[in-house]
Amino acid sequence: MKKIAFFDTKPYDRVWFEQYNKNFEIDFFEEKLNFHTAKMAEGFDGVCAFVNDDISARTIDRLHGLGVQTIAMRCAGYNNVDMKAAEGKITVSRVPAYSPYSVAEHAMGMLLMLNRKLHKAYIRTRDFNFNISGLEGVDLHRKTAGVIGTGKIGRIFINICRGFGMKVIAYDAYPAKDSGIDYVDLDTLFKESDVISLHCPLTEDTHHILDKAAFEKMKPGVFIINTSRGGLVDAPALLDALNSEKVRAVGLDVYEEEADLFFEDNSDKLVKDKTLALLLTRPNVLITSHQAFLTREALQNIAEITLQNLEAFFDGKKTGNEICAKCCQQ
Ligand code: NAD
Repeated sequence: MKKIAFFDTKPYDRVWFEQYNKNFEIDFFEEKLNFHTAKMAEGFDGVCAFVNDDISARTIDRLHGLGVQTIAMRCAGYNNVDMKAAEGKITVSRVPAYSPYSVAEHAMGMLLMLNRKLHKAYIRTRDFNFNISGLEGVDLHRKTAGVIGTGKIGRIFINICRGFGMKVIAYDAYPAKDSGIDYVDLDTLFKESDVISLHCPLTEDTHHILDKAAFEKMKPGVFIINTSRGGLVDAPALLDALNSEKVRAVGLDVYEEEADLFFEDNSDKLVKDKTLALLLTRPNVLITSHQAFLTREALQNIAEITLQNLEAFFDGKKTGNEICAKCCQQ
């Protein structure tokens, strides 16, 4: 039986892998995969990793030296993998789609909560405070949603927005032909959108796609939602845009410096990230801890597809879920 080392695992993902696994001997480690922890993969044939593992060239070289043949990412994004370094050494696969609904629905959930201040209402009524002053929102009906990235998740988010009677405009570096999507350039999207939601991958081109200059171009009172990757948003510039009230409210499921914080309980620790601390003091900022994917259906699909990717690799077959340096847009 081939041996697979699973890094950065939590009880909620182990459950499904244990249920679906038939062909592998799996060891679940809580540690994140990085150059230092890579040595734990000694004696394993493959590793399985997640969004905040540090799969740099050094990590890959160490894994390769230990005889690890494949890295199965149990996620869609792979911006944390140095694909150039992996080429010719280790085959990397991912789960391109497990439930785009999970992420798109979370994005809309964040928007609804921020707009109608449901987080405040929840706390008030717990305390028998039935005052509704300050809880005013806006109708989303007839507002314009600007969607950046119209792949699997972006398109579902577009459909959800259309269900609310919103007008949708979109920007994508690779617009989908005959999709019925109203594509505009990025400046027009910034200028016309009441809500901007990010659904593109993190690449060199999209790093800080929302920066100071972008916020300056936006409509006053815009809502920003990022369920994609933290590095898409320049967080200090976002804080300035909140201070100037250019941005009405923001929902972040991801944060550029999340790697050492998210998925863990840091409530007893001194978190030194000042920008994050300032963002969290604001009632119009909602931060969730990279949980947009966290539905039962998504976890089941992640487990099933990751195991299929591993099985195919060791059987010498292709699934189409392999990533290569040449075909990825990094
Ligand atoms: P996808 O590959 O189906 O779609 C991505 C879209 O972005 C494509 O249409 C692509 O053409 C477009 N794109 C690429 N480069 C671009 C650029 N420079 N500017 C604008 N658009 C560009 O991916 P998906 O499944 O829809 O996922 C989107 C992102 O969501 C992923 O990259 C991942 O980072 C993120 N994600 C987050 C979670 C979470 O739990 N928060 C879960 C899954 C995925």
